[in-house]
Amino acid sequence: MMPQPSLRAYVRQHAEDRPGIYRMLGPGEEVLYVGKSVRVRSRLLSYFRAEEHHKATSLIRDTHAIAWEYVPNEFSALVREMRLIKRWRPRYNVEHKRKRSFAFIRITGETAPRVLAVSRTPAEGGVLFGPFPRPRLLTLTLRDLAHVLGLRDCHGKVPIRFGDQLEFFQERGLPRCLRADTGSCLAPCSGRCSFGDYAQSVETARRFLEGTSREPLQLLETRMREAAGVLEFEHAAMLRDRLRRLEALQRELVAFRGRVESLSFVYRIRGFKGDDRLYLIRRGLVRGEMPSPRGRAGRERAARKVQEVFAEAAPDPTALTPEGASEILLVARWFRLREGEMSRVFGPEEWLRTVAPASV
Ligand code: SF4
Repeated sequence: MMPQPSLRAYVRQHAEDRPGIYRMLGPGEEVLYVGKSVRVRSRLLSYFRAEEHHKATSLIRDTHAIAWEYVPNEFSALVREMRLIKRWRPRYNVEHKRKRSFAFIRITGETAPRVLAVSRTPAEGGVLFGPFPRPRLLTLTLRDLAHVLGLRDCHGKVPIRFGDQLEFFQERGLPRCLRADTGSCLAPCSGRCSFGDYAQSVETARRFLEGTSREPLQLLETRMREAAGVLEFEHAAMLRDRLRRLEALQRELVAFRGRVESLSFVYRIRGFKGDDRLYLIRRGLVRGEMPSPRGRAGRERAARKVQEVFAEAAPDPTALTPEGASEILLVARWFRLREGEMSRVFGPEEWLRTVAPASV
């Protein structure tokens, strides 16, 4: 079946070659795909020339309508595209996502939360840390953390029975795995711990990942010394390896916080047909966008906004929402691939002192 010729004609007639976001809509107006381009018209017309078996061909076959909006520049298009994909999770964007070579740490939002390595930012809740390279090593290190703090790492569907909630259940139930007997899990599957005890361990994990607690490391050091004291050298060596992995993770978290912190500035970009923009980026998140100010009143307005964004308390840079994690990745990648763009950024104080008074 050929793509609808009327769609192609519509694009030819109405779309312009300028930066923007486009949406492919299905028969019920559901969003099938969100894309961006610095030349919307050319990009959209290329879908109608795609070869058979190409993703673009099947997408355009399913498409009943195309909508687009223009933005001032490519950076703006990237940020808007990412936010819309996060909001709608269009089928074609999700199915054709590339495999990632990094992972996030996720504390799930379950009744008995788990600390997991996940390869992409999930749609549902919980708290994220990262991203980190070497997903396999991360999985192993998080298993270490779970074992030290007694957190579960079983399937999310394992029924949970806290010890202080047993009146709700017919029976206490047996632990579902050996970790209960080896003492490496608090075993919330079998009423062996209270809700509060388990929550405390989760909180310790969270503080460790946020860099405000060394408790898991101290626990391991104590256990390692005890094992060596009773001549259990093999066990002590296993605990030492665990300790090293967790210390390395904490170093990575510190480095990550530094990298995110450094993504805090005012970024000025030339826009399509003179629509120059200022982006206020704090800890890798775009917290404000405005036309690059002209004239005294515009500069004063912009200065107020810069002061407001950079003065307000910002959330911890390591504990992220899925949307926040994606945005930090996008912003970091943008500047990594375009070193020249760093010449357009100004620290907020520098901007207020030197640029704002005489801005474009
Ligand atoms: S002991 Fe129970 S809660 Fe802990 S990991 Fe095993 S199945 Fe899960």
